[in-house]
Amino acid sequence: MKPTKLFFRLLFCTFMLNVFFMNAQQDNYKCAFDDDSYIPLVSCNQTGSADPTILDQFDPIVVNVKFWGINRPNGGGNDFPNREHESLTAIAKLNIYFNEYKIFFKYGGYEEFDSPIHYWDQDGDGIPDPDLNGFYILEQTYPHISALEEWASQNGKKDANAVNVYLYGYGVFGGWGGYPDKFTVGKNSGAMTTPGMLHEMGHDLTLYHTRSGSEHVTRKEFLPDGSINPSFNARTAGDRVEDTAAEPGYLRRSDGTYPYIDANCNYIFGFQFDNSDEHEAYDPTPADVANILSDAYDCVDYIVTVGQGIRAREALACGDYAPAIVPISSLYEPYSGEYFDPNLPNDVLYKPLFQPGFEYRFLECDCDCPEPVAYENINFSYTQYNIKEISKFEEDYSKIYHPNHSAIGIKIENEPIFWPQPRRCYDNPYRKPNSGSVTLFNDGIFNGNVTLMPKDSTGINNPNLIDELPSGLYVIDKIYSEGNTEQTVIQKSGN
Ligand SMILES: [Zn+2]
Repeated sequence: MKPTKLFFRLLFCTFMLNVFFMNAQQDNYKCAFDDDSYIPLVSCNQTGSADPTILDQFDPIVVNVKFWGINRPNGGGNDFPNREHESLTAIAKLNIYFNEYKIFFKYGGYEEFDSPIHYWDQDGDGIPDPDLNGFYILEQTYPHISALEEWASQNGKKDANAVNVYLYGYGVFGGWGGYPDKFTVGKNSGAMTTPGMLHEMGHDLTLYHTRSGSEHVTRKEFLPDGSINPSFNARTAGDRVEDTAAEPGYLRRSDGTYPYIDANCNYIFGFQFDNSDEHEAYDPTPADVANILSDAYDCVDYIVTVGQGIRAREALACGDYAPAIVPISSLYEPYSGEYFDPNLPNDVLYKPLFQPGFEYRFLECDCDCPEPVAYENINFSYTQYNIKEISKFEEDYSKIYHPNHSAIGIKIENEPIFWPQPRRCYDNPYRKPNSGSVTLFNDGIFNGNVTLMPKDSTGINNPNLIDELPSGLYVIDKIYSEGNTEQTVIQKSGN
């Protein structure tokens, strides 16, 4: 009798369960997503093409992402105290590797909840048994994923306007994405900042694993005589993306090994062949082996191909994701912290923080606006002077805040103008400098013959500072707690 696919799946699950109970504390990177049963969106036109000019027809789009940390039942805590911070890291990495395909991710916040006790049949007698680990440990793939998703959505643990990322503790798998619900992703908490997070979000945006026995090796769409090559199926078979190589799956599920991957993550050529009439040998490159949607889990790196980026962006062009799409202006909103309140001066409070993963330029601006102006309001003046510049690789997230007297520039990759109009000028006159200096030019002209008078907070904020200066040419420098400076030239002529 020919073994059925179901038989293999049962075998796989049984094997994974055994491994899991032996190594409950190990991270598992293998993904639960099953390409065969996944039903792609039908309302999208997905070309499978890797022609980057296709992206020209699309505007940048922003996906709101909410993170949920799952604890053990009854407040039993968890082994992952840094999940909130790592959620920001995950958002940064998603942006760093998807922005060039005009896909942006907005950090929609992080919350934790204690799992309920989850009842399922653990001894095979048909009667559900209490699982005291709840959803903190997921022992089965689809039954437990769908049980968690159902519980979360019925108990206020799902944001209807976001893709919800559930961070469980451990599982027999390392994550899932977009199945059965396209507004959910799961990831084991020990691997939130690995390429696995991009892998699962990729699934959520309709990317398949690169593995497939039906995709042919050839990338020649036409034969030498100009006719269509019947073996060319790169855009419609396998992962439906033409710039990822055909490959039959690197992981041998029966024993968890990679028989055709060498120690350096190179594919060993000449042993596996496609099912085209030509029976071409599979020949994926090292970048294919390390692709984010590869199942060579030990080799995966942050590699997203142009074709994958286009397929994901095309998916987002459908209405299917509309509830989780937020406007570009949301990127210019802080995820935490507040703007300065002159009635409650407390510097610690006033750090409006912006999510990591973008190139920011905070450009000097002028609008006399104690609160930042609305995104739509560009009726303010600004200069090209960077009060602060932030790299998308910045790891000290406390540095990414909006300084006074500046407007926010966010680099939009893959646009003709990388740096769009800066927005949200914040120019609060009540924000006082905390130090500074007065420089007197002794000769009455700008040269090196100066007298420098440093000022502390009281000195620089003295309302009579200018009145009290003798006649002469001065430069007054004010230094603000956000790190920015302001310089004024004073020509004082008689008191
Ligand atoms: Zn996967």
